[in-house]
Amino acid sequence: MKRIFPLIVISLVLVCSCGEVYRYTDATFYTMSTVVNVISDGDGDFSDIKDFASDFENRVSRTKQNSEIYTLNLGGTAVLSEDTLYILEKSLEIAENTDYAFNPCMGSITELWDITSGKNYVPEYGLVADALEACDINNIRISENTAEVSDGTKVDLGGIAKGYALEKMLEFEISENKDTNVCINLGGNIALSGSSESNRKKDEYGWNVGITNPFDKNTIVGTLKTSDCFIAISGAYERFFEKDGTVYHHIFDPSTGYPAKSDLASTAVINKSGIEGDALSTALFVMGFDKSVEFYKSGVYDFDMILITNDGVIYITEGIASDFTLDADARDLNGKEMSIIKIEK
Ligand code: AMP
Ligand code: MG
Repeated sequence: MKRIFPLIVISLVLVCSCGEVYRYTDATFYTMSTVVNVISDGDGDFSDIKDFASDFENRVSRTKQNSEIYTLNLGGTAVLSEDTLYILEKSLEIAENTDYAFNPCMGSITELWDITSGKNYVPEYGLVADALEACDINNIRISENTAEVSDGTKVDLGGIAKGYALEKMLEFEISENKDTNVCINLGGNIALSGSSESNRKKDEYGWNVGITNPFDKNTIVGTLKTSDCFIAISGAYERFFEKDGTVYHHIFDPSTGYPAKSDLASTAVINKSGIEGDALSTALFVMGFDKSVEFYKSGVYDFDMILITNDGVIYITEGIASDFTLDADARDLNGKEMSIIKIEK
C-alpha cells in the first residue's frame, strides 16, 4: 500500500512510499523566515531540531539584531561561532569555484532591494551601482574565529545557510533514531534519509519528491524517487514582486546588482551535501543554462541537477534521470507540454 502525505509546501510536494504498516509523526514550525516541516518515523521528539533552528537563526540572520552576521555588518567585526565560521568559509570557497556567481557579500544589494518588504521598490541605477561596489569579496578577512569586513561590505548567507541547517537537523534526528525514515523540508530545501540496511530489507525506504513547476507553483513537473540526499531548489518564482510588467526577484547577479536575467526558470541540485547544494542551486540560477552545464561537467563539485528552462524543457543529469517521472499534466508558461532531455557528464 502506498501512503500519501499531501504535504503542499513552499516549493516541493512530498509523497512517501513505504510499507503497509507505517507510523510517522510530523511537526511544522516557523524559523529562518520560512516554514519547516519534519516527517519522521522516529520517536516524535523534535525538540533538538527546533532548539537548533531558533539558535541558529539568532546567529546567522542578516536582519536579526545582535546576530553574529548583523554585528559583523554593523560594526565591521564579529567573533563567529563554529557553525557561522564554517558557513562563511565554505561560501567563500564556493564563490571562488563558481566564478563568483555565488557571492556571500551581496548584503548591500539585498538590503537595498529588500524584495520581500512589500514596498515593490526599484532602486535607481546609481544606488545599485554604489551598493554593488560594496559587494567585493576581497573586503572580507577571517582570522581564527573573527571576521572583519571593510568599505561597507555586508555579508548575506541567505543563499547557503538553510542547506547547512538541514545537515545539522538531519544529524539530530538520525542520531536519536536509528533506521529512521526522515524528510525535513526547510522552505523548499529538503533533507531525506531512510535507506538504512534494515529499511532496505523491509523495502521501507525511498521518497517521491514532487518538483515544483516554476510556471505554476501549485503544480509539479514530475517526481523524483530518491533517498539519503539533499535537494535544494532556486527559482525566480520563490520571492519576487512585479512592477510595470517586470518581475523583480530575490536572486541577484553579482556582476550587475540586478535580479539575475536567467534563461532558467528553476534549478534543483541533488547531492550528499546540504550546504553545497544550497549554494550551488543559487549559483546555477545566476550562471544560466550553458554555464551550468559546463560547471556540472567540470566535476568541481559532485552533484546532480534538474534545470528547467524558460521555454519549458526539463534537463536532468544522468545520475538521476532514470529516477524522474514526468507529470503528464506538466505545462510551461504557454500551456505547452514539457519535455525532458538528459545531460551526460
Ligand atoms: P536561494 O533561495 O537559496 O536561491 O537563495 C537566495 C537568497 O540568497 C537571497 O534571498 C539572498 O539572500 C541571497 N542571494 C541572492 N543572490 C545571491 C547570489 N548571487 N549569491 C549568493 N547569495 C545570493
Ligand atoms: Mg541556495
